This record gives sequence, C-alpha cells and structure tokens, in this order.
Amino acid sequence: MTPENARLHRLRGGLTAVEVGARGIESLARNANCTRLRAIVITGLTPSKVIEHVLGELPDAMSPFAITLTQAFEKRLLSNAGGSLLTVYREKGHLDPQDAKITNVADLAPRDTQVDCIRRERETRRLIELKLRGDPAAPNLILKPRLALTIVGVTHAIELDYLVASDREPFYRVGVIKSYADRGGKTNKAHIRTACREASVGTLALQQLLTSLGQPVELAGDRIDIVLKAPGSFTPRLYAAQRAESELASLTRALAAAPSDLDQIEQMLPAGASLAKPEVIEALPNHYCSSCKEHCALWQHCRAQAQAQGNAIILGDQAAEQLAAAGSLNRAMDLLNGSGRPPDNRAEVVLAAELRAASALLDRIANG
Ligand code: SF4
Repeated sequence: MTPENARLHRLRGGLTAVEVGARGIESLARNANCTRLRAIVITGLTPSKVIEHVLGELPDAMSPFAITLTQAFEKRLLSNAGGSLLTVYREKGHLDPQDAKITNVADLAPRDTQVDCIRRERETRRLIELKLRGDPAAPNLILKPRLALTIVGVTHAIELDYLVASDREPFYRVGVIKSYADRGGKTNKAHIRTACREASVGTLALQQLLTSLGQPVELAGDRIDIVLKAPGSFTPRLYAAQRAESELASLTRALAAAPSDLDQIEQMLPAGASLAKPEVIEALPNHYCSSCKEHCALWQHCRAQAQAQGNAIILGDQAAEQLAAAGSLNRAMDLLNGSGRPPDNRAEVVLAAELRAASALLDRIANG
C-alpha cells in the first residue's frame, strides 16, 4: 500500500473505497462550499455509502424505473458494437463515411476486478496515444474509456460513456448518454448542466493525460457531446460539440477549493478520527442548500442539522437571502416580535420593519 493509500485507508476508518466516478466528482461543483461532501468524495467514499455504512440507514434508492430506462437507452445506443451511436453521428454529419472504427474498452476487460480495471485504463491510454501519433488505426469512437483524474493529490478512476473524433479531428471529445427526454427549449436546464459537467470531468481527465504525455492541454478543448432521447421513444438526439466552458470553469474552481489536500482533511479531524464515525461526519462543516436534495444522499441529515441550528435555508434560497441580516430563524422571530435584544445594526432595523409589514399584510389578507 502506498503511503497515500494508507492515509486514505485510515481516513476511511477501514471502509472499502468506492469509485465515485464522474458523477460523484461532478457533484462537488454543485455545492463547492460544502467541506463535508469534499472530504467524503476525496477520501473515496460517497454520501450513499456514508448513509449506509456509517449512519446505518438505507440510502435513497434511484427509482427502478429510471434505472431501467437509463440502462435500456444506453444499451440500445451501444448495441451492434456501437453501430447505433455511429449511425447517429453519421446522420448528423459529425462523422464521415470512412470514420467507422469503434473500440469498446469494456469488452476487453469486462470484470470489476483490479486487474481488469488496470487493463481498461491502459487500453484507453494506448488508443488515445494512437490518435496523438496520427495513427490511422485510432478509433473514431472509444466506448467506455477509463481514465484517471487526480484531485488534490488523490487519483480517482472515471469511466465515461465514450470519446469521439473523426479522422480529420486532432483529438477526442467526451460524450455522455442521458435518458432525459429532449424537449428542445423546455428540457430541464439543470439536467443539461449536470450532463455537461459530468462530461467536463472527462475533459479534465483528458487534460491531465495530455499533460502527462507532454502534449498541449488545449487539444482536449472545451466542447462535449450529449445524446438525449426523444420524448416517448428511444430515438437518440445528438447535441455534438456543445461548448462547456463555464462547466469546466465551475468544476475547476470547485476542485481547487479547500480542503485542497489530504493534510487539510486530516487537520480538520480530531487526532486519529476517521470518517467511519457518525460524530466525525456531523462535525465536518457543511453548506446545506435547497439543491442538495438533487444530488446528495445526505440531504435529510444536513437539512435536519440546518433546522436545529435555526438556519433560514430550510425555508428556501429566497427566504435565506431575505433573512440573511438576522443570521438565524430564531433571531428573525425576535426581530418580528420585538423580543430578545434590540436590533444590533441598521440591517436588522430594516429587516424588523419589513417583517412586521409583511406580518400585518398577511393578517389583513387572512382576517379581512
Ligand atoms: S447534503 Fe450535506 S453533505 Fe451533501 S452537499 Fe448538501 S450540505 Fe453538503
């Protein structure tokens, strides 16, 4: 075991590491201010694993319908050795007729064993190197590539849906397959942003690989591909070469935030403590927000903690912003009722007046 792995093992308190994957790493950017989530992910755990193995509860399960739909759509698209995905690219003119080389890395080493994982990573690297050398044998579609991404000195493996490049293009873009229904301008924007950020995790991994090979990172570009499905059918809809500049920037910012290395995580914990203890998880600083429910299995715990602290965020983002001057719900109630100590500053005086005006209005509406 390397010294770094030994430290991670100690921080996990003996819990087995899980591959957090592109989705887990992407979730860091959704709440860049949450130290708790960063510490969990960096040490090789997930919020679901913490819920199950540390807090002894059942994590939220993804709806079986959604899982089946996602798997069926992906299977359909990657069936015939990736032929269906290739057809979509050709129909849209993003691959030429001669761009017909497809390699599925997962076929080479399909098991979840360490040996197969290493073989998938090596094969992905070999195929990418072919492209960098301009070798005509370089695939146009690499399905299920496995790449390494180093965050704050810890290497995480990520498996992507695919990489794509025509023979004319110098390098690959990352592609993601999502079973979200494509409703044009009405498609859920949060879903699209998530898909873009997930693909951008792959772009960051490509950038790191390029750097390690002495190649310019610019080759990885800032564009990604997304395949959605048409509403009510499995017909794929391709959005190729979408600009993901802001998603890449938000990810990079989130990954650069503290704790930025294992030293900082260790310093945050009491001596010898590990994330396998519920009290240690509870003591890690968090930053609950209304969007936590969308991506983090710990949301109920963090919301309960926010409620116990009288944090106005439990009433939603807008309420939290409006009550910011009070600092807590208890203080806001004091300002409304004129109880407790008098207003500390002008911001509290204004807030007290606004709360009383709103209360009087509500009273008039309710009682006529
Ligand atoms: S639910 Fe908790 S741990 Fe997860 S991101 Fe939100 S505040 Fe952080």
